[in-house]
Amino acid sequence: MPETVWVGPAWCPEQGRLDAVLAVDGRIAAVGGAAAARAGQPGVQVVDVGDGLLLPGFGDGHAHPLFGGLEAEGPAVSGLTSVEAVVAEVARWAAEHPEAAWVQAASYDSTLAPDGLFDARWLDAAVPDRPVMLRAGDYHTAWVNSRALALAGIDATTPEPALGEIPRRPDGTPLGTLREWGAVDLVAAVVPDRPLEARVLALERATRHLAGLGVTWVQDAWVEAGDVEAYLAASGRGALHCAVNLALYADPRRGLHQVEALVRLRERVRAHADPLLTAETVKLFADGVVEGGTAALLEPYQGTGCAHTGMLVWAPDELAAVVTALDAQGFQAHVHTIGDRAVRVALDALEHAARVNGPRDRRPVLAHLQLVAEEDRARLAALGVVANAEPLWAQLDAVMQDLTVPRLGAERAAAQYPWATLTALGTTLSFGSDWPVSSADPLEGVAVACSRQTDARVPAGGWTPAERLGLEAALTAYTRGTAHQAFRRAGTLRVGADADLVRLDRDPFSVAEPRDLDTVRVTATWLRGVPVGAVRGG
Ligand SMILES: [Zn+2]
Repeated sequence: MPETVWVGPAWCPEQGRLDAVLAVDGRIAAVGGAAAARAGQPGVQVVDVGDGLLLPGFGDGHAHPLFGGLEAEGPAVSGLTSVEAVVAEVARWAAEHPEAAWVQAASYDSTLAPDGLFDARWLDAAVPDRPVMLRAGDYHTAWVNSRALALAGIDATTPEPALGEIPRRPDGTPLGTLREWGAVDLVAAVVPDRPLEARVLALERATRHLAGLGVTWVQDAWVEAGDVEAYLAASGRGALHCAVNLALYADPRRGLHQVEALVRLRERVRAHADPLLTAETVKLFADGVVEGGTAALLEPYQGTGCAHTGMLVWAPDELAAVVTALDAQGFQAHVHTIGDRAVRVALDALEHAARVNGPRDRRPVLAHLQLVAEEDRARLAALGVVANAEPLWAQLDAVMQDLTVPRLGAERAAAQYPWATLTALGTTLSFGSDWPVSSADPLEGVAVACSRQTDARVPAGGWTPAERLGLEAALTAYTRGTAHQAFRRAGTLRVGADADLVRLDRDPFSVAEPRDLDTVRVTATWLRGVPVGAVRGG
């Protein structure tokens, strides 16, 4: 029976301050004086928390570990600040990898070209002979070169796809930017799958990265059948460094026909019986993204010259039917909802499922929640919805200023990401990163959730400051909130919970300026009492 006692300051949402925590066999067995009394006993390992703070491990309620791990293999375009720099990086990587049939990368910054419109010819100049496919930071948009367009058969005669958009030149030929599934999938369909080995390595790398940031559980928010095989292989090799729940992707084009296949995938994961790997959730997209004009809004977009309100991925009655069928199979729904119309339609679908299938502990998840209409805000708590929010998105950065605010107009823009309001209404808030769309570092998320400022501290006093959270609420969303979403006995230091723990180098409650909270660093992470991940210096 391995026993460890952590001596020094600790904090959790339920019990507040503690001074010692004892884990036996991977579970918390005592706190306070009873735990401290075990220090010095034979066979009991002692960890000194020192000047730091011990917390329950962080959860990430919405991320894409496989995408994040794979990004590290291609050209490093994330974070580059000009079109020229992206093209140069693509050219460098292509020259170094003559064996690669395709050049693939993510996540380029879609604000680098006006209106997010990127030209295939810019990439042709770097790689004329092989196909190139770059995904934007939102993963809803792609920028491809002419060779990729040709291989996918996209030309002037290609009709506008349902659920997608192909921006064109005046002569009708495709520009090189593709928006949403209907368009992006035309190219994705001709990209060869990455080998299983590459995907297992990507998961190893990704979960090590997350564990190093203090993340002990992650919701993979988009998993297809082949990805399940990669996860099972990674689990079999002990290559998962944090617990993962898979959200199996429900394809809007396959409707109710796919329910049985999703149940079978879940059965495969259950039969594998690794407590660190579950697949109890289904991912559905209700809409797209504001920046591409594809988020579904109740009122039209501004400045587009026409009264368009975006795109619902599923017709409302179809969404209600599929959510109800999945719910009847015991799946947890995880619905991408950005626009206020998408939120309403998703709430209607969840309400329908509850009415048809009867009461049950469902914990459905609505992810992102960029706009929630006033009259819908109380419905989340009433339906037991977990509000999954990405704190790094709630700041006045380039995407917000150049792409989001002009499309929404000032009044709606000021109503985005109403987390303090939802929390006050009794909604369970869970935080996530959407990594690799945004940084996976929970302490960066805490800093922005509490300040609503960019790293340049803009604006003074915070953007939409009424929706800032206190430090306790932000840490709760990363611990108890995500554990609630995950149906896990974690996110707390209560006796009986899993000993998933993180040690910070400093006490964040002693940091004066909320925006400085990201200077606090994780120095160690434990999963069920066992140290994991890379140790990062303070
Ligand atoms: Zn996502």
